[in-house]
Amino acid sequence: MENLWRDDDAQAMVAAYGTEGVGEDLALRVYTTRLLGGDPRLVLHGGGNTSVKTHLVDGVGQEVEVLCVKGSGWDMVAIEPPGLPAVRLDPLRDLRALDVLSDEEMVNQQRRNLLDSTAPNPSVETLLHAFVAHKFVDHTHSTAILSVTDQPDGPERCAQVFGDTMALVPYIMPGFALAKAAAEVADANPAVEGLILLKHGIFTFGDSAEEAYGRMIAQVSRAEAYLTDNAAKTFAVAALPQDLLPVARVAPLLRGLTAQVMDPAEGLYHPMILDFHGGEAVRAYVNGADLHRYAKVGVATPDHTIRTKNMPLIVPPPDAGQVAAFEAGSRAAIDAFVAGYESYFERHNAHQAAPKTMLDPMPRVILVPGLGLFGLGKSAKDAAIAADIAENTIEVITQAEAIGRFESVSEAEMFDLEYWSLEQAKLGKGAEAPLARHVVAVTGGAGGIGAATAAAFAAEGAEVAVLDRDGDGAAATADGFGGLGLACDVTDPAAVQAATDRVCETYGGLDIVVSNAGAAWQGRIGEVDDAVLRKSFELNFFAHQSVAQAAVRIMATQGTGGVLLFNASKQALNPGPDFGPYGLPKAALIALVRQYAIDHGGDGIRANAINADRVNTGLYAEGMLEERAAARGLSVPDYLAGANLLKREVTVDDVAQAFVSLALARKTTGAILTVDGGNIEAAPR
Ligand code: ZN
Repeated sequence: MENLWRDDDAQAMVAAYGTEGVGEDLALRVYTTRLLGGDPRLVLHGGGNTSVKTHLVDGVGQEVEVLCVKGSGWDMVAIEPPGLPAVRLDPLRDLRALDVLSDEEMVNQQRRNLLDSTAPNPSVETLLHAFVAHKFVDHTHSTAILSVTDQPDGPERCAQVFGDTMALVPYIMPGFALAKAAAEVADANPAVEGLILLKHGIFTFGDSAEEAYGRMIAQVSRAEAYLTDNAAKTFAVAALPQDLLPVARVAPLLRGLTAQVMDPAEGLYHPMILDFHGGEAVRAYVNGADLHRYAKVGVATPDHTIRTKNMPLIVPPPDAGQVAAFEAGSRAAIDAFVAGYESYFERHNAHQAAPKTMLDPMPRVILVPGLGLFGLGKSAKDAAIAADIAENTIEVITQAEAIGRFESVSEAEMFDLEYWSLEQAKLGKGAEAPLARHVVAVTGGAGGIGAATAAAFAAEGAEVAVLDRDGDGAAATADGFGGLGLACDVTDPAAVQAATDRVCETYGGLDIVVSNAGAAWQGRIGEVDDAVLRKSFELNFFAHQSVAQAAVRIMATQGTGGVLLFNASKQALNPGPDFGPYGLPKAALIALVRQYAIDHGGDGIRANAINADRVNTGLYAEGMLEERAAARGLSVPDYLAGANLLKREVTVDDVAQAFVSLALARKTTGAILTVDGGNIEAAPR
């Protein structure tokens, strides 16, 4: 592992922060914290922390000794000085004299001694940093360190690797007891460069930021060299089917099976978002003949439990020739996982002084022999974190099994971490947004109503894929909210299939489709060229059918219902002169909506349409609206509003909100919702 310390960079950071009044100690603390946070082999999603003991002036002008320690909610790779809140050091040191300290009181003491009362909570490992004497303290859950310590003979191996340069601390759950025990070991071994916390991670100490960081890199490098030198075994490969189902088919199936059924009569499910990883190392691991042994030992370091649960789910290999058997095998595996989780909870909750409330029993990691792994979460972000940690766990276990046998902490210790109030607080417990956990695809999403609708669904918490013939436009819309932008010509059924496959590969499935893409063609019906009419039918009718059919296939696989929403037109209900080429396929589209409502209502799939009219989409030909408005002596908004009953301008956001409300209207199907400010001639009858 390369030491990335550069004097020039360090001094540049000191100079830059110096102009903001940040001292050298804290500036260098930020510098090496970022270096550590930038390497996933050291720090992954909140799995590490750092501190420096320094002096600051408090609110009444007195200089006090403080511990600047990583605050929760900050990512080390992007940390700034406010991410290392300052806590008065003397009161923290005084706590060491206590025999016991509850977690709640520990947090209280940490918060009441903050110099800034609005600062984030200091790390749950703050007291360990406070109790050891060294100025700079660095802590990571290094992959290589875990591979060495997560062994039945971990202490002996550590002695071989580190000699007397590091002291060992037995596994103790983070908090006051660990802080005291670790400080005692450090005090008893004043010459060591740091501590190895068995089955947890590594701390290194230094008088300077460079020294603590350099020791972290050097000690982790020793562990890496030991792993390379002693690697003796690779996983024996299991026999796998010749033809495997693709990820796009497997994901919706597993997504449906892992959705919590909240109220089937109301069509209420809590599906999760799935994030797939299928790299070479992941596949070597999931394809192992002994997968069920080494994958079910436990976590690599206990705080992973809150992201991945104590165990992954393992499903059978998805044999393309035996789809029903794969589904049945997966269902049985999930049922067994849930039953196992419930009994794990009961077993350990029985010993708790204050009984806990069980978390949802569904897996957060699924291993699929032949394919790879899925991380699961209530958002794409959470799913990605679970998948990243699962991949990191695979690296730890692969290396551990190469030199010996992977061993985790006990089940009771994993439970203590998973149900530790301070860990649970890291996950945030706010109410979920109305469309969280839902995957939405919007066609024609590069601009106008489609772009506004995609943004509106994202604002309600959904994961949104934007499809458009203009791939750059789709990507631009999606970038606005961190969604997926895809080039897709919806008149090509193969392109529609490829796009919906990508959606399933990215998010695990599909719950809501807004089939919005369309365009207007004109012509007097008795004279219009047949080709014009057919072209309009391709986009304004058949494309809607391709999109809906692809979506329904995914929804049927998931078995958790779904929503099909269509952009119809006033022309379908109140045709205007010379608009036959546009109005006829749109009239057929209304019939299509009703047919989906009839044929798939029994599957919990709803089909509804919006009739929007006279909306300033921004997509009209340059100057066209202005010209028409000017001809009547009106502004564009007044011109558009003038024709409706309410005399109000209808915007793309109004239409977008109507699509959202139809998605949420769980008792509505086969409906046409009008968003036109009032036009009685176009009111559905
Ligand atoms: Zn830790």
